[in-house]
Amino acid sequence: MENKIKGIEEILLMGPGPSLTHPRVYSALSRPTLGHLDPYFIQIMDDIKAMLQKVFQTNNNLTIPMSGTGSAGMETVFVNLIEKGDPVLILINGAFGKRMLDIAQRLGADADSMDFKWGTPVTTDEVEAQLKKKKYKIVAMVHAETSTGVCNPAEEVGKLVKEHGALYILDTVTSLGGMEVAVDKWHVDAIYSGTQKCLSCPPGLSPVSFSDRAVDVIMNRETKVPNWYLDVSMIANYWAGKKRAYHHTAPINMLYGLYEALAVVLEEGLENVYDRHQRMHEKLVTGLEELGIKMVVDKQFRLPMLNSIWIPEGIDDAEGRRALRYDHHIEIGGGLGDFAGKVWRIGLMGNTAREEHVDRLLKALAAIKKK
Ligand SMILES: *Cc1c(COP(=O)(O)O)cnc(C)c1O
Repeated sequence: MENKIKGIEEILLMGPGPSLTHPRVYSALSRPTLGHLDPYFIQIMDDIKAMLQKVFQTNNNLTIPMSGTGSAGMETVFVNLIEKGDPVLILINGAFGKRMLDIAQRLGADADSMDFKWGTPVTTDEVEAQLKKKKYKIVAMVHAETSTGVCNPAEEVGKLVKEHGALYILDTVTSLGGMEVAVDKWHVDAIYSGTQKCLSCPPGLSPVSFSDRAVDVIMNRETKVPNWYLDVSMIANYWAGKKRAYHHTAPINMLYGLYEALAVVLEEGLENVYDRHQRMHEKLVTGLEELGIKMVVDKQFRLPMLNSIWIPEGIDDAEGRRALRYDHHIEIGGGLGDFAGKVWRIGLMGNTAREEHVDRLLKALAAIKKK
């Protein structure tokens, strides 16, 4: 049998994730595996927590990476905060908002949702009206809706949720490390992200953070968290305190990868990182317009790191993406849900958001349009 791993070739990842892994992260992943209670490894864990606090812009003590991808982070915040019958409001304008609703329903929440048109943002007036109508324990929203490329007003919704006394859950899987995410300033009570989008790390970990208020709610639950693996009250005993207790074997080398990824982001500086994503986005949009390719989302609501375009006329969805993958060694994303077959999604996440990558994609798009 031929070794398939040896046959892997490098593909320029410009889809909705994973993004290109940073070379320093690849090196970190291959460092020697230590024991999960090794004293040196515990120092590494402490540094990861401190760096995550910086990237999330929070003083929250309970700021840790969960083992699992972004969806595990989503499940973590819901499973720890929701008890059966809790009134929960989910604001939905894409596939990931729908996933939140699915999880809340599986947990037996009294889950209401507000649906906003795909490709447009959540509007605060309507949210405010709903919050006046009914008292919720939790309001949840996606900051950067990866299925459409829309940025939702995370800070404004945070203000409303705080005024109405609910807990605020925010999904920042795609936004963290690519645009401002300010947990404390935005009054977020539970937040999660992923490693494989703007953090330039392979998929496998999900950073989460809980406010003191959220921790209080978790510690005073009437029922046990129904999911053993994701119960943060138990996991916290591994990530904090003098005497660390085994919960599950941490994915040691993935954590080295996250450590290095966070170091790379903080060395560049958060403002510089956000600025680079914005500049690459503007360069891409200019180039697409020159090719006559149209953006799906109105200018003021666009995400820098996820660009939805209408599939250029005369190009077949699958055939176009196949040509990009095989003739040009570039991956982009297809449309999800309402946008399947109509939209392509171009990611400019983390290490992918570089000038030479934007140039290469624009050249390739020009070539397939000509054919
Ligand atoms: C990618 C993504 C997720 C899910 O993350 P996985 O790593 O695929 O499990 C959740 N929310 C948003 C907004 C995402 O972009």
